[in-house]
Amino acid sequence: MVILKGFLFFILFCISVLMSAALAHDASEKVLAKKIFGNFLTPTKLKSESIGKYNKGCLNGGVELPVKGETWQHINSKRGRNWGHPRLINFTKDLSQKVAEFGWIGLYIGDLGNPRGGPTPYGHAAHQVGLEVDIKFRKPATLDLSVKDSHNDHRYGKPSFKEMNVVSKNQKNVNSNWTQEHMNILKAAAQDERVNKIFVNAAIKVWMCKNAGSADRSWLMKIRPERGHSEHFHVRLKCPEGSPDCVNTPLWNKYKNVDGCDKQLAWWVTDRLKPKKKVIKKTVEIKKKFKCAHARCYLPEELPKACLKTMHVEN
Ligand SMILES: [Zn+2]
Repeated sequence: MVILKGFLFFILFCISVLMSAALAHDASEKVLAKKIFGNFLTPTKLKSESIGKYNKGCLNGGVELPVKGETWQHINSKRGRNWGHPRLINFTKDLSQKVAEFGWIGLYIGDLGNPRGGPTPYGHAAHQVGLEVDIKFRKPATLDLSVKDSHNDHRYGKPSFKEMNVVSKNQKNVNSNWTQEHMNILKAAAQDERVNKIFVNAAIKVWMCKNAGSADRSWLMKIRPERGHSEHFHVRLKCPEGSPDCVNTPLWNKYKNVDGCDKQLAWWVTDRLKPKKKVIKKTVEIKKKFKCAHARCYLPEELPKACLKTMHVEN
């Protein structure tokens, strides 16, 4: 009898597993936007236009940044994220030339975006409208690295490219890899009219605030403190003309100062770094009830309507 009961239980268990697998399959029939956009190898033939928000949008008429140029090399090129609005491509090339003034031969360029923008299959939440680029803190010794040596994405084999971290372990200061040259490059980028914001690790901004001198400091406001961003900085350009559906993010400044060297910045390298109290179980349960709102979960219809045209293969 006991054996029979056990057997019945086993059968029921099998049925429930099969049913839940079938249901899971149904749910996954909806293809996520990141998969659609991540698969495009070509841009649309439409005129160049950034559409939507930086973390919820797409790009028409994308232009490719060549993997190698006289003053730059694109890193992790196998991901195919070397596309952007023409304004971003021009900005990236211009900055890579400008750094010669500070003793650099050029720049190692990280991700821009997919050929048609949109969510990336992994990694970023933003980088969706073709106006953002990651730039490495490593000073190039050569701009002719082999494909293998210019990769550090384990999805494409053993990582070879060595990132340079410029922030100390405790996340409060820069470390000995940081140089005045980095400061000069960031300042030049921030002073560029096309730039909206630049994200760096908060410890970097703290150093810059201390060492920027007393002359015009307004450019410093564009340098925004963030977590991470200790091996690269992230440049976001303003919405270009001819992109009426592109949504700019304003420079939010609670303390109404010129440079953003304020209490908010101090919080990043003090209170924020204190060990957090244990998360109460209830909060976790509440969180579970809410739908995932990250770019990696977007369905195509959650993007701006115009992006459906961008997704159309023939365009
Ligand atoms: Zn970025």
